[in-house]
Amino acid sequence: MGMANPDCIFCKIIAGEVPSLKLYEDDRVFAMMDINPFDDGHGLVITKAHAENLLNADPDDLAAVLPAAQKICRAVEAALKPEGVNVVQANGPAAGQTVYHFHTHIFPRRRDDGAMLNWGHTPGDMGRIEAVYNKIMAVM
Ligand code: AMP
Ligand code: ZN
Repeated sequence: MGMANPDCIFCKIIAGEVPSLKLYEDDRVFAMMDINPFDDGHGLVITKAHAENLLNADPDDLAAVLPAAQKICRAVEAALKPEGVNVVQANGPAAGQTVYHFHTHIFPRRRDDGAMLNWGHTPGDMGRIEAVYNKIMAVM
C-alpha cells in the first residue's frame, strides 16, 4: 500500500483518525457516506493507498474500486429505490475535484433531482472527433 499523506483527510479517515460512516472495506478500498451529499445515499469509494487521482492511482487498486462500487450500488438500489445511479469521478480542478485522494462518487438519481450530470446528445463534427482521436492515439 502507498504511504499515507499526513495532510490528507481521506488518509486520516482510513487510519481511523477522522470518523466516517463506513459502507465497505477490503484490502485495497474503503467506502463511506459523503458528508456534503448531493442527495440521500451519496457515497464515496476511495483507494486505501494515497494517490492524487485516476491519473496516478495503482491499476490494481483501481480494479478493486468498481466491484466495491457495485456492492454499494446494489445496497443503495435495494434500500432507497432510486430511479438511477451515477458513478462519477473527478480529476483536477475543472472537473470539480476538491479532495486530492482518489475517490469515486456514487449518486442515487431521480429524474427531477436537478443534477447537472446529463448532457444533450447533439451530433458532433466527425472531422473534429477524428482529429482529436488521432491526437490521443498518437500518445496511447
Ligand atoms: P470531489 O469534489 O470530487 O473531490 O469530492 C470530494 C468529496 O469528499 C466531496 O463530495 C466532499 O463532500 C467529500 N468529503 C470531504 N470530506 C469528507 C469527510 N470527512 N467525510 C466524508 N466525505 C467527505
Ligand atoms: Zn490520502
